[in-house]
Amino acid sequence: MITDSRLPSIETAGIEWHEGAPYSRRFSDVYFSRDNGLEETRHVFVSHNQLTERFPEVPAAGSFVIAETGFGTGLNFLAAWQAWDQSASSADACLHFVSAERYPLSQDDLARALSMWPELSDYANQLLEQYPEPIHGAHRLIFDGGRVRLTLFFGDVLDAWRELDFRADAWFLDGFSPARNPDMWTEAAIDAIRGHSKPGTTLATFTSVGEVRRLLTKLGFTMHKVPGFGSKRDMLAGALAAPAAHATPAAANDIESIAIIGAGVAGSLLARNLAQRGLHVTVIDQAEEAGTAASGNLQGALYVKLGVEFNDQARLGLSSLLFSQRYYQQFGGDCWHPSGLVQLAHSDSEQERQARFIERNDYPAGVLRRVSPEEASELAGVPLQRGGLWFPGSGWLEPGRLCQSLMEHPRIRRCFGFDVHRLTPCNGKWHIAGNGEQDVVVDRVIICAGHQTPGLIPLHGGFRFRAIRGQVTHVPAASLKCPNVVVCGSGYLNPAHNGIALAGATFDLHDHSPALSTNSHRDNLSMLDSMIPGALQVPESEPDDFEGKVGFRCTTHDYQPVAGPLMDAHGHALEGIDLFTGLGSKGLSYAPLLAEYIADRISGQPQCLPRSLAKRVATHRCHRPEIVQPETISA
Ligand code: SAM
Repeated sequence: MITDSRLPSIETAGIEWHEGAPYSRRFSDVYFSRDNGLEETRHVFVSHNQLTERFPEVPAAGSFVIAETGFGTGLNFLAAWQAWDQSASSADACLHFVSAERYPLSQDDLARALSMWPELSDYANQLLEQYPEPIHGAHRLIFDGGRVRLTLFFGDVLDAWRELDFRADAWFLDGFSPARNPDMWTEAAIDAIRGHSKPGTTLATFTSVGEVRRLLTKLGFTMHKVPGFGSKRDMLAGALAAPAAHATPAAANDIESIAIIGAGVAGSLLARNLAQRGLHVTVIDQAEEAGTAASGNLQGALYVKLGVEFNDQARLGLSSLLFSQRYYQQFGGDCWHPSGLVQLAHSDSEQERQARFIERNDYPAGVLRRVSPEEASELAGVPLQRGGLWFPGSGWLEPGRLCQSLMEHPRIRRCFGFDVHRLTPCNGKWHIAGNGEQDVVVDRVIICAGHQTPGLIPLHGGFRFRAIRGQVTHVPAASLKCPNVVVCGSGYLNPAHNGIALAGATFDLHDHSPALSTNSHRDNLSMLDSMIPGALQVPESEPDDFEGKVGFRCTTHDYQPVAGPLMDAHGHALEGIDLFTGLGSKGLSYAPLLAEYIADRISGQPQCLPRSLAKRVATHRCHRPEIVQPETISA
């Protein structure tokens, strides 16, 4: 059966319960042995990939990658995680588990299946807390402060192996029996497995079918029949032929030093991410504190506007939104406020667009759903004349405080009050020069300098970045009927916090002044009044006394972010330098996933962005090469 990955939702598994254990109606097969699923996993996958012997060898800041066909109930993942906890010796190494699943279990079925294993309940609860909505594509889950990462691809294995960029140290082949699910065991599927293996990668599977062994052997694996678990006589285990006995786990690319320029949301998230992977990072900023420039607003909404077509742009926005909702959970009760968010159908054309959006797509209600004016008003706690889209997992943040708390890590060195003037490559290093200060010299630098990025890029030619002024207004809560949730429309209004609600932001294409302007306040208040008529209880014409903040968004020509190696216009990467900017007004939503993506690349781990989405954020899109003079051409 074909599911349509041009739509957001993926079909979930049809589970039957046979003597309390999950059974697939579709494949007429069991998810794990009736004898004892957990012991079977330990025998077939953990033991025959020699995991307990190999985990202690993973170096600090290194990683070990397991890939699996068929995530199912997640039992194998949890058993591997438990083995990692029991035998890995470095606290800074990462177990990375990559798994593809064509028919994900629903959250309820997953909970019921995992309740069979009380000894895994701590792990199971953490998985259940983050288990994604049934949305096509790649989901990245981070556990235990980054000691364990899961890349869970909801879709067919062949799509997963085509889209994902990783190399496994060990394989768990677990896709129902070849007789019941031949698609999982084709030559193309096994060839893709080989393509994602390192020399010496090990592999284990519960099946001992001759055809599977023949294909694996044909494609370069040395396979042995070994005793199976319980009533199964045999199974297969082996390795990709290689000089070493087995693959050497990855170290983090021998990077000695990394600098990040810019301590806004992008730079702070990236610094923390790299530090948690065991890398040392110097964060440079001209300000004396993190999160002061465009990221310094008192409040910011977690919001993306999803297009009517479920294309790569919508996929990137959605993946970023869902990842950030999971990521910020750790700041709940602090600077993350998951109030929910309503995106108003604030005009007739937006109403018509939302109607088409809902008609064309099938988002699960846990991600978003359409609400009437009455329901929107009830959720928001203020009367709204229009309905809209309700995002229950969204909310708002205190971005400045977020940046400051992200900086609190022993492997992050803060180099503040340093005004970077120039970046120069020299003998395989980057020299970062400021005014008067001694150069900072590093192996790798990532420019996260928002709208100031173009002035720092060491390439000739122009860049299609644009600084767009945005002013927010601090509306005193006393002069407002405050919503309980974020209300977005032509602008946004956040719930009040410490006596202030933030309304904004202006979008000033022609005004470049950093000073607060009364006109901008007026624009914000009239936007507010058009979204929530009557909300404002002071005359809109008297905003002179209001406070606020001006920031400059860095936007690109196509309003998509840039993240990854700095490439020239021809797509050639410069050694040791990355860009991470162009987040526009959606930095809080995009930055966690893109920081994860850049850190994946730097640390040599499986990448969280599928190839099609990585292309969308590639840096060369934004480079306009120098205009070549005619005489240069003839020379
Ligand atoms: N590893 C699982 C666990 O720990 O519970 C059990 C896996 S179960 C035996 C096989 C899984 O493969 C099922 O969840 C099934 O939906 C999935 N599957 C079957 N065909 C697939 C395909 N073509 N692509 C991806 N997943 C597939």
